[in-house]
Amino acid sequence: MPADAVVEIKSRLDIIDVIGAYVRLQKSGREYKGLCPFHGEKTPSFMVNQERQVFHCHGCNEGGDILTFVQKIERLEFREALEMLAERAGVELTRDGDGGERRDAARKRKLAIDLHGRAQAFYEHVLWNTAAGEPGRALLADRGVGEELARQFGVGFAPSGGGSGNALIRYLLTRGAAGSAAELAEAGLAHTSDRGGPPRDRFRHRLLFPIRTERGETIAFGGRALGDAIPKYLNSPATAVYDKSQAIFGIDQARAAMQSSGVAVIVEGYFDVLAAHSAGVANAVASSGTALTREQVRILSRHAHAVILCFDGDDAGRTAASRAVDVVAAENLECRICVLPEGFKDPDELVRRDSALFAHAISSAPREWQVLLDRAIGDGEGGSIDARRDAAERAVVLLARISEAAARDLYTQQAAQRLELQPSSIAQDVERVRRSGRAPQRLVVTAAAAPPVVAEEVAPGPVEPVDAWDDYIGRLAVQRPALAAELLAEQGFQPAELSNREIRQIVELALSPDAAASFPMHRLGASEQRLAARLLVRSLPELQDPDNPQPLRQALADSVIQLRAAAKHSEWRAVQRELRLARDAGRTADVEALATRLNQLATERQRIRQG
Ligand SMILES: [Zn+2]
Repeated sequence: MPADAVVEIKSRLDIIDVIGAYVRLQKSGREYKGLCPFHGEKTPSFMVNQERQVFHCHGCNEGGDILTFVQKIERLEFREALEMLAERAGVELTRDGDGGERRDAARKRKLAIDLHGRAQAFYEHVLWNTAAGEPGRALLADRGVGEELARQFGVGFAPSGGGSGNALIRYLLTRGAAGSAAELAEAGLAHTSDRGGPPRDRFRHRLLFPIRTERGETIAFGGRALGDAIPKYLNSPATAVYDKSQAIFGIDQARAAMQSSGVAVIVEGYFDVLAAHSAGVANAVASSGTALTREQVRILSRHAHAVILCFDGDDAGRTAASRAVDVVAAENLECRICVLPEGFKDPDELVRRDSALFAHAISSAPREWQVLLDRAIGDGEGGSIDARRDAAERAVVLLARISEAAARDLYTQQAAQRLELQPSSIAQDVERVRRSGRAPQRLVVTAAAAPPVVAEEVAPGPVEPVDAWDDYIGRLAVQRPALAAELLAEQGFQPAELSNREIRQIVELALSPDAAASFPMHRLGASEQRLAARLLVRSLPELQDPDNPQPLRQALADSVIQLRAAAKHSEWRAVQRELRLARDAGRTADVEALATRLNQLATERQRIRQG
């Protein structure tokens, strides 16, 4: 790995920009704070330090530099993360001793993204500039989508491609974008026929919605049929870059608005997303080709702390919303449900009739459990005994799903009041359902996503205790290596004297010539990276005044003394143990030698303490 390439890339990128694309960061003193993308939380404990270019989470102890972050969040291997950042930084990487397989995976990803970018441009061109695109333009006009809005989302049109149905294949191959139709098939853009016929475009005669990453790269398409052709919607297959459980349509367009409002609006369809944006609801996205997944919610939680579900008003939409509530709750986000006014089937239809009414319905969306409870109670309120009993049964099942005790209690009281029952009897039933585990656990379990490819992944555990003096020397070494080298030399201190193995490794690296430009975090293992990030973000009070190194020198000298005294003490204890064994065994000669050594150690320890 060319070390200078890493240094070069890091010097060109700012960790705030890179992490800011995934996490909503707010300046807090000298650091930036946000909700941790690696564990669910409601109050921010994820810190990014711009000056030192590191991140650290006080909650789950995850931490590292810009490369660590990209590896974890994108589930990439080091080399892939480096390539991604290199591209962003405009740094050319030379290929050197790297696993062929890994290189191949990275190459496939890169090719797939490149091909999708070109295909998107091709489809968009067909839509707006050719006769073949006319049916697409007509469909958009029919749905009230103007050119500007459609172009914002990169909407395009896949032509039928004549009898051979291969317009895109011909376009990409003649331009040398891929070596063969098989490569296009692997990227999800073409079908190779199993009957031995020539390959065809995957998408033909469809309006296409590009599905993009947060950074705006097209990774897949959602294709809407014209007329009554089936299937009505055809999506890209899973590829090296596309996993539908993690893709969110419109996220690149909605990101800024989600971050400024802290809210994500989730609708069901592509046209709903476009309609919402045209109504000024710019934080709208859709999960495409799948029911809302936990992965998708987790991605949204990097940008927003609350979610508003705005699904279709029919039974299917209501069921989907009810399921989505559990998925959102599992990721600890605040959740609301937008109830469309009577007579409107989906957001798209409402916006076209009255966009202000839609915006109002979104801004006044009630809390999720309130909406679901209203639906559960239905006609039970003020109804016959039978109707009230049925309603109570539905309410109990619903209330049992609320994991937060206080909220469960409040809605239980409300349900009891509306059904004219004792709160205690409803509460009893709810408890019974919860205990029996009969409460339908409606968590949508997603199909296993592509296995994470992060090498030697060890989940961050609780912070292991580190001796205060090891910690102090570690902080100084990573934050001010030159000063640390100078002051430690004054004390005649060697990093090998540190008692904690991981800190020893970090300090040795920080004081090595490789660390001259910036701390080479990537040389460390995952666990050492977390520790190094923690050392980098924790302040060193004695460093506040750069003109006066005296307090620092003193604090460092104290740490060295403590550390050496502690080392002597543990040696003393070991010798004492030896001595006891020798005495028990009657080894007189050994006893004498060990007793002498014990006295020596006590004196040495005394001397260290007195300076
Ligand atoms: Zn965390």
